[in-house]
Amino acid sequence: MLPVTEAESIILNLVQPFSQKETEWVELSAAYGRILADSVSSKLDFPHWDNSAMDGYAVRHQDIQDCNLENPKTLEIIEEIPAGYRPQKTVQPRQAARIFTGACLPAGADTIIMQEDTQRQGNSVKILTASKPQAFIRHQGSFYKAGDPLLQPGIVLGAAEMAVLAAAQCCQVPVYRRVKVAIFSTGNELVEPNQPLLPGQIVDSNHYALTAWVQSMNMEPISFGIVPDQPEVLKSTINQAVEIADIVLSTGGVSVGDYDYIEQILSDLGGDIQVRSVAIKPGKPLTVAKFPNCIYFGLPGNPVSALVTCWRFVQPAIKKCSGLLPQLYQPVYVKARLKQDLRSGGKRETYLWGQLHWTDTGYEFELAYGSHNSANLINLAQTTALAVVPVNQSLITEGEFVSVLRLN
Ligand code: AMP
Ligand code: MG
Repeated sequence: MLPVTEAESIILNLVQPFSQKETEWVELSAAYGRILADSVSSKLDFPHWDNSAMDGYAVRHQDIQDCNLENPKTLEIIEEIPAGYRPQKTVQPRQAARIFTGACLPAGADTIIMQEDTQRQGNSVKILTASKPQAFIRHQGSFYKAGDPLLQPGIVLGAAEMAVLAAAQCCQVPVYRRVKVAIFSTGNELVEPNQPLLPGQIVDSNHYALTAWVQSMNMEPISFGIVPDQPEVLKSTINQAVEIADIVLSTGGVSVGDYDYIEQILSDLGGDIQVRSVAIKPGKPLTVAKFPNCIYFGLPGNPVSALVTCWRFVQPAIKKCSGLLPQLYQPVYVKARLKQDLRSGGKRETYLWGQLHWTDTGYEFELAYGSHNSANLINLAQTTALAVVPVNQSLITEGEFVSVLRLN
């Protein structure tokens, strides 16, 4: 049995991140959630021109520098400049332009007086308070200079990045292609959810769990359905899957039972088996093999074991493959105070599922109610985090702090 951290580093070392060859260009409107494949810059300065940060008046600082409530200055208003309008006139001594937030600064003006510090009188304005030179002017290029790097590759395009790309008029966006993830479930006992269950049969829930999980990361699931425990059928399915996918996820058939054929078939097909069992609970039989263009994860069949091994081992690997920056694919742990005791057999690193809550005194971990059994998928619902009990520890008591793996 490999220790968890050793298995993790073996797995991460197998993964080649996508290179620039894996780039595709998408319309801006289709870029949300994708991973940027190349650095992007803009031909535009931000702001594009000097503009006003306030509703008020554009003035020459010399004219108003000495004014105050006792000694206001009256200026002639020569023009009104709303946002989107190009100023036509130059502000001369003892003149001002009415201006609104975001509007272009007119020539001649070097300072904005906010509306609240003025009194309008027909075609003129009384300035009641002086502001500093250059006050409330957003200068051209002060946020960003045209040609500088704007966004770096390896980031996910979320709401903020979409706004940046749109503002920069990047209408075609270079993104990495989606990771292709082949998924199938092995087991003679498995049926689809809409089929009546004969004695001994169970529904293939793993397929739904893994597909949803792959979709949640904006990757491309490729379904191979349910595959019976028949070596020839398994062999041909695995052969096809490793040809077309970047990552293969199968569940079941990796333990030591008579119907557990996966490891032998992986070897027969030329897979380089790197992991065959890990000191983790749940998830001990995790089997990982390297193929020329693909990594194969033989996940345990029990529903909780399948998801826990995905969250712990497959998630960083699949994200690394996708082209994400290292700081974005590494697992995220926080320290959380326990609301209940955690128990473990002590021989394997134990992952217990539950919910992470933010409170006045920091994070708290609430253990899922009921049985922590790898076959119990019922209490896995609403899991947001896994608390970790290290090897050689059998009890961590309520109130103590533990490491918790965040899942979202
Ligand atoms: P195995 O590793 O193939 O021995 O599977 C272990 C146990 O996991 C089986 O006895 C089933 O109860 C359960 N199991 C296997 N595959 C699935 C699946 N696709 N969906 C739900 N449960 C499964
Ligand atoms: Mg099985």
